[in-house]
Amino acid sequence: AVVTRFAPSPTGFLHIGGARTALFNWLYAKSVGGVMRLRIEDTDRSRSTTEAIAAILDSLSWLGLDHDGETVFQSQRADRHAEVAHQLLADGKAYKCYATPDELTQMREDARAAGKPPRYDGRWRDRPASDAPEGAPFAVRIKAPTDGLTVVHDQVQGEVKTPNKDLDDFIILRSDGTPTYMLAVVVDDHDMGVTHVIRGDDHLTNAARQSVIYDALGWDRPVFAHIPLIHGPDGAKLSKRHGAVGAEAYRADGFLPDTMRNYLARLGWAHGDDEIFSTEQAIEWFGFDGMGKSAARFDVKKLTALNAHYMRELSIDAFQSAFNASLPYLPNKDKLPNPFEGDAKARFETALPGLRERARTLVELIDSAAFLFAQRPLAMDEKAATLLTDEARGHLAALHGLYGALEAWTVEPLEAATKAYAEQAEIKLGAVAQPLRAALTGSKTSPGIYDVLIALGREESLARIGDQTQ
Ligand code: GLU
Repeated sequence: AVVTRFAPSPTGFLHIGGARTALFNWLYAKSVGGVMRLRIEDTDRSRSTTEAIAAILDSLSWLGLDHDGETVFQSQRADRHAEVAHQLLADGKAYKCYATPDELTQMREDARAAGKPPRYDGRWRDRPASDAPEGAPFAVRIKAPTDGLTVVHDQVQGEVKTPNKDLDDFIILRSDGTPTYMLAVVVDDHDMGVTHVIRGDDHLTNAARQSVIYDALGWDRPVFAHIPLIHGPDGAKLSKRHGAVGAEAYRADGFLPDTMRNYLARLGWAHGDDEIFSTEQAIEWFGFDGMGKSAARFDVKKLTALNAHYMRELSIDAFQSAFNASLPYLPNKDKLPNPFEGDAKARFETALPGLRERARTLVELIDSAAFLFAQRPLAMDEKAATLLTDEARGHLAALHGLYGALEAWTVEPLEAATKAYAEQAEIKLGAVAQPLRAALTGSKTSPGIYDVLIALGREESLARIGDQTQ
């Protein structure tokens, strides 16, 4: 069975590129009935705080990218990594290198002077350990092949050939006994049963070195798929200067997880011309065939347009649960009553179908819902204030009387009363609906006017209209 994995290094947040990598691994696993596992690459102890790890797990769960089995923490596996290094030593596939820091510095300087990339020169490869001073510290180096090619059959990049003379005998275990990243990844992927490694193409050169380790151990290499990195709109690698790069920032900006999954799936993968598709659909279609070699550009405008779509199209239940999950992180949540429950919540839910038609993000949704909870008398924005002429106030006074006499507070009688009044007063419906909207919401834009009346309820609506007719 297929086992993919997501292996983030905790750096304080889940990078949007990491979120895309996680999504691809998740989609691929789902598409073939496999599983995705999670490994936290926390060997850099200074950066890998519990908060940094929690931030990644939190973003993954917001995005709905669940994983199978226990989370593996790379830092807890150092003994196993060392054990494998010693096994390679015992098998003659690796050797102890006693080169001193000074010697290594000299090697680098000589290479630089000769205009060559720094390479370890293999001086301990065939030299007996007995040549080393008693008890001297040593690193363990892999005995890499010296001629020929190391070929990686990559699902996205094709055949990637690296001349073995470019792969020096790199270190797998440092002189302090700690494993290097190159060794740890191979051992962990093997022990976790990983069959497919899908990750950013910044790891492509590592794939060759990791293949050398797999081969030395006699282990099957995984299938590799290195996907192009995400770029900003200017074509440079996505970074902070393009705006937010942490997934959680998009939650705070009011984007829905459905939007993120759809949008991120399209960054580096395509299914014909399809731009909008459900996660189920993506799972059905997903595969290496649709992955491209050129970098995709992250475009917040497109993301926003897609979010506007999901704001309208999600089922109301799915929408509400997404809204509730994001609410604590939305910067304008204080515009909603706290606690957000009971009558306040009911009023919000009544208005929701109209509100979400108009909002592109959850942040805009809250802004547009704020009128529901505003204190009387309402503060009018400038445009709304200009609608409330003396004549308009006269119409509002008349409506106040008509509405007050209605038996049922539902759309039909409200609409009938409003239309009848406009007809009888020989004015356009807008000439009464616009001031009415201003009186009820303090703004020129809102959901449909009858939806607003229903959401506010009889008492609050009449009070707000009354406030403008004094
Ligand atoms: N921890 C690495 C990173 O976050 C990924 C390693 C891998 O996928 O092999 O870039």
